[in-house]
Parts: sequence; structure tokens; C-alpha cells
Amino acid sequence: MRYTDTRALDPSRPTFSEAVVTGIAAGGGLYVPERLPSFSLDEVLGFAGLPYRDRAAAVFERFGVDVAPERVSALMADAYGAQWDDERIAPVVEVTAGVHVLELWHGPTSAFKDMALQCMPLFFSEAVDTMQAAGTLAEDFLVLVATSGDTGKAALEGFADRDHTGIVVFYPDGGVSDVQRLQMVTQHGANVGVFGVRGNFDDCQSAVKAAFNDPGFAEELRERHGLRLSSANSINWGRLLPQIAYYVSAYADMVAQGGVKPGAPMDVCVPTGNFGNILGAYYARMTGVPIGRLLCASNENNVLTDFIATGTYDISGRPFVTTPSPSMDILVSSNLERLLYHLAGPEAVREWMRELAEHRRFTVDRPTFAAVRELFSADWVSNDESLATIARVYKEHGYLMDAHTAVAWEAAERLRGEDPVLVVSTAHWAKFGADVYRALTGAAYGAPLTGAAAEMSGLRLLDEVRVLAPDAAAIPAPLAGLNTLPERFTGVVDAGRDGVVSAVRGWLET
Ligand SMILES: *Cc1c(COP(=O)(O)O)cnc(C)c1O
Repeated sequence: MRYTDTRALDPSRPTFSEAVVTGIAAGGGLYVPERLPSFSLDEVLGFAGLPYRDRAAAVFERFGVDVAPERVSALMADAYGAQWDDERIAPVVEVTAGVHVLELWHGPTSAFKDMALQCMPLFFSEAVDTMQAAGTLAEDFLVLVATSGDTGKAALEGFADRDHTGIVVFYPDGGVSDVQRLQMVTQHGANVGVFGVRGNFDDCQSAVKAAFNDPGFAEELRERHGLRLSSANSINWGRLLPQIAYYVSAYADMVAQGGVKPGAPMDVCVPTGNFGNILGAYYARMTGVPIGRLLCASNENNVLTDFIATGTYDISGRPFVTTPSPSMDILVSSNLERLLYHLAGPEAVREWMRELAEHRRFTVDRPTFAAVRELFSADWVSNDESLATIARVYKEHGYLMDAHTAVAWEAAERLRGEDPVLVVSTAHWAKFGADVYRALTGAAYGAPLTGAAAEMSGLRLLDEVRVLAPDAAAIPAPLAGLNTLPERFTGVVDAGRDGVVSAVRGWLET
């Protein structure tokens, strides 16, 4: 199987491994498979009898990855092994009649990015190894990441001690939660670095981008250190393919648990930011998994809700709002480009992406809009509504959710029809404990914590949530143990290219 790109500007037709190492296509498009494979219903249902690693391996093989089957199996055993706190990896839990939750946070960093980032770095490292052995690649890779909290930790954990790679993560100093900062600065691994940046997330992201696009720096890295830069971000096909696997897996589990009749449709509701997770569900549907409607849930950054309602994607003059679901705070949902490619083809995508770059908006044609409407429904949930949903669902069902999941739950209740619905849960409640605490105590989003809570560390506050919500899932061991680990990384650098470049230079020398 070869890959093509969404703008038809890259003639290279890479294999899976080449697409993973290259990341973004020449011309700015995203890699997509030249054709989509399919699963029969019996094959999908048969997944219920397999461990998760075998389900993921079967999906990778069906998508024609250019890695020997026994290596795929070995890498999957590594990706979905003992670092997960539930051997089902991505379990489906029935919370109330007709509403099931797909829990994607049993990995080492307690959020959904682990589903892809425990897997993709293994295939990345394998691909570099193969290319170096074949003599088609001379360098190792340095992954640079700007993070608002979640992605950085998941990427660190995924790349830690992987051959042929190093990773340096930059976060806004003072701009991530207590728990998120501790997760990053205590990261283990000989090939990892973490720096705070003086500024907000935007400053952090522009600084990393500036270093990334500096040809002089690239040359210095190559000549002095034998390194190339990579970003391993969520538009990389290597991060998308693992996200198809858990939807195939979830349908098999739904049927096995009696949540849906074999072959009957289930809807899925996904808390959406960059459109990667819900695109995994779209691909699963296209390969034959009986998924009915794709329910796209947004927070107050609701550009996707408007797009699915009107066919116009418009970020001109749209403010960026902060919310209790920060991993969905996004204006440009990059992976939407892949959906548009499959619905309308590369010429249309080129035109729309040009309009987006020039005018910050584009409108799709009528047939494409009709196709979107046939597949997707969308709604958005306000900050206060998402906190209220956390409290209500805990009270009614004894199930405690984080605010990202709450957005999906509330949207699912509004949008669902007769079919059973799978609500996708993207973070353990303890990952965003302060807002869960606010929700349970009836405080508004953004309200300062009062009383004893005001004095508590992020970790102490989690214990307090457990007192308020005794039926909640236990605090994951890696989070509970954070304050027992040494803080390895204390560096803080200035924003801008120079800050990032000097941080990387210093890190490479130690
Ligand atoms: C990244 C993330 C999302 C958004 O997923 P996309 O693939 O970007 O749509 C939602 N919830 C959490 C907790 C995340 O980390």
C-alpha cells in the first residue's frame, strides 16, 4: 500500500514507514492511503476474542503497512503492554442504558494521546532503523514539541529511550497545571529534554516553529550532531492509524457486551479538537465497521459545529476562548483536510486551503456539504454546561468524567437518536482535577478555589475529589506518585527562536 497526499502535490508515493518519517507531504498536504481496505462483519466481531495488541496489529496489516507481520506483532505487544493500567487497553463501559463510554485514558499519561503515542514512536524508530540499514537515510531524529500540557507528556513518554530519536518539549512557564508540569519535568529517559518558555502557549508554539524553519539551525544539527528535525504531530499518519484500531475494537466489544446487535449501527460521539480522533471513527466506518452517525462535540471554540451546520469554515474574527477542556481549544482543525479530500478530492482541497490561508475562511460546494451532513452531526457545550454535566452524570450514574469527556456526553445526549451511542472519553478525571473539583462543589469555571482547597497542591486536590466522589475511578498510580519523583528539568528559556535554539544546543551538549 502506498500513500498519496490531500493536495496531490507530492509525487513521492511513500510507504507507511516513509509517510511516518516524513510527516507532512511536500506542498503542505497530508498523507492518506491510496485506497481504503475493508473488514467483514465477522472479522470485526472476531476481534472480541483477541487481546488489544492483536486487534491493533490486524488493523495495521489490513492497511498494508510495510513492516513484517512478526515485527508488527512485537511492536504492538510493546505499545499496548504492561504500561497500561487495564489489560483491555481501551475498554467499553456501559454507564446507562444505550450510552457506553470508550475509555481511552488507561495509558501511562492518563489521556487519549497515549493511544497513538505509545505506538507511533515504535514504528518511527523501526522505520529509521530500516532506512539507515538500507543506506537511504544517514541521520537520527530530534523531535521538537510545543505543548499546552497534554501532548508534551504523551510524546515524552512515547519517545523516551527509543532508538534513533531524541525529544525536547517546550511548555509555557506558568501556563500548564501543577500536575501537567510535574508530569513533564519528572520524565524519565536518556534522550529527553523539557524546558519552560517565558510566555504563553502561542509564544511557545511560534518559538518552536521559528527554530524548526531555520535552515541554518537544521544544517548545524545535521553537520554537528547527525540529526534531522521532526514534529511527530497529530497530522502524522502514524498517529492516525492507531486511532482507527480502537473504533474497530470498540464495536466488537459493544456487540460482545450486548450493547448493540451484530451488524446494527452504533453512533459515536467524540470530543473534538484537531479532528484526529473523530477522523479515526470516520475511517473505521469506511472500512466496514457499523458506525451510524459521527457526532462531533466541541467546547466554546465551536468552529467545527458551525462548519457542520453551514458548510462554511470561518476563523476570521473568531476569538480563541479558554475552557476547562483545553485540549480541544483550537481554531484550525488540521485533520479536517483529510475528510475533505475523501469527500471532494485534491483539487477542491487545494482551493479551500488556499482560501483558508488567504481569507481565514472557505465554503465547501453543495455535494460536499450534503456528504458531510449525511455522516456528521455536531453541537457545542459551554464551559458552565460542561462542569454541570460532570456533576449531574456523577450524581445520576456514579461515573466521574473530566471536562473533555463531559462535552461529548452532553452533546451525545442532545444529538443521539434511537441507536446506542459510544461516548469517547479522552482523559481520566484526575488529569484535570481542579475543574472536576469545581464541578462537584458547584463552583463556576474560572472561579478561584476557596477555603482549604485554595492552599492545596494539584495532587492534594485529587484526594479531595475522591472524598466528594467516592465511586470515582481511582487516581492512576503514575499521577499519585508524581511528588515522589525528582524534578529533572528546571530550565526556563526566553520566547523566540533564540530561546529554543540555545535550549536545544545546551541540551545536546549535556
Ligand atoms: C487531544 C485531545 C482531544 C482532541 O482530540 P483531536 O484528535 O485533536 O480531535 C480531546 N481530549 C483530550 C483529553 C485530548 O488530549
